[in-house]
This record gives sequence, structure tokens and C-alpha cells, in this order.
Amino acid sequence: MAFIVAIDGPAGTGKGTITKLLAKEMGLVNIDTGATYRCVALYMLQNAIALQEKNKIIDSLANIHIDMKNEEGEQTIFLNGKNVTNEIRSKEVTKIVSQVSSIKEVRFAMVEVQRNLAKGKDVIMEGRDITTYVFPHADVKIYLDADEKERAKRRYKEMQEKGIEMSYEEVLKNIQIRDKNDKEKEIGALKIAEDATYVDTTFLTIQEVKEKVKQIIEEKRGK
Ligand code: C5P
Repeated sequence: MAFIVAIDGPAGTGKGTITKLLAKEMGLVNIDTGATYRCVALYMLQNAIALQEKNKIIDSLANIHIDMKNEEGEQTIFLNGKNVTNEIRSKEVTKIVSQVSSIKEVRFAMVEVQRNLAKGKDVIMEGRDITTYVFPHADVKIYLDADEKERAKRRYKEMQEKGIEMSYEEVLKNIQIRDKNDKEKEIGALKIAEDATYVDTTFLTIQEVKEKVKQIIEEKRGK
């Protein structure tokens, strides 16, 4: 039986970083579910499809093929055969992705992609609705949280390191809009699953969060 670790939480809680590190350390396949929605957003930008053109977005889903390759915890994302690992993190994609992911048909299609990517593997998956919707019966369920200002600070630093020009205020605003959008989604809204372990990361370093999450996983999986 495949072993599934599901991690949810808002942007800037360290989910991505921790998942990557633990995948490598614990021999799990890392599946970044946000990347699937980012691919749809990137496809829209590439094909000049606006957020308002819902029917066009839905129609384009048939032309979107997403693949992920994992090597030593490092993930490469392919959109229609092209490596888009970096492109999907752009400011333009980040701006529209939350709204794109609110479209019901997009969610149904991407959840199917995510479940297929996980099939038969021992996985660690992070996103917004993994513990509640994609894999409600996951072996380990964790919700990572942090104060929004601290999350904005982390994201701002990350953007700077990647050379993406954005002010702290812009990053904070973006996080607030995304949080609101993610929590109010009709399907797959961000919420804390009843049986998830809640971890507040506001005052913890990445290393500390990683160790905490690792311990939770080890308790369930056996070392
Ligand atoms: O995690 P990341 O910031 O890459 O996710 C991009 C966006 O995709 C999020 O803001 C959220 O709106 C959406 N998302 C989602 N469900 C997931 C993962 C991400 O709706 N499981």
C-alpha cells in the first residue's frame, strides 16, 4: 500500500521547502500540487486567454498536459513537454493563479492529474486541499500555519533571492488576496481538517519545522 503524507496551509508557511527536504531525506516522492494550477495559469498567459474567458479556460484543459519528474527530491515540471519549473513561479503567474484555481472545472481536472501523479507511490504532497479533498484518507495529515506578516516577510526574501522585483507591501497584499480567495473557494477551500496536526510555524526556523513534521511522519510510518 502506498503511503501518503498530506500537507496543507497558506502561502509562505514553508510547505514547499519542507516537503522538498523531507522527500529527499525520507525517500518520498514530492508532488507540488500548486504547480499544476500554475501550469494552467501559464498556459493562459502563453495563449492570451484572460481570466474572464471562463469557457476558453475550460476548453483549454484538454490541451494541457502536465508531468513531473523527481530526482533526489528535486522536482522538474513539464507543461506540454517543456520544462517550466522556473517560469511557473513568475510574478504574472502568481498574480492570477489563485483565481484560476477557483474555477470548478480546473480543480476537477487538476485533482485528477494530482491523484494520477501519486498513484502507487509513497508520496509527500503539499497544497491547500490535500488533507480535505485530494487525499482525505492520507496516512499523515498536517496543517502548517503562520502569521500573515511573517509569511509575507518569508516570501519577500524568497522573491529577492530569485531576483523577482516586488515590494514587501506588494507581496503582503498578494498573500492577503490569495488567502481570501483560497479560503472562500466553492470546492477545495483551504481549511483545517479535523484530524490534521496543526503546526504554527511563526516563531520556528525552517529546520525546526522540518524536524517537527519529520517526527509526526515517523510516528505514523515507523522509522
Ligand atoms: O502553493 P502555490 O503558491 O504554488 O499555489 C499556487 C496557487 O494554487 C495557490 O495560491 C492556490 O490558490 C492554488 N492551489 C490550490 N490547491 C492546491 C494547491 C494550490 O487551490 N492544492
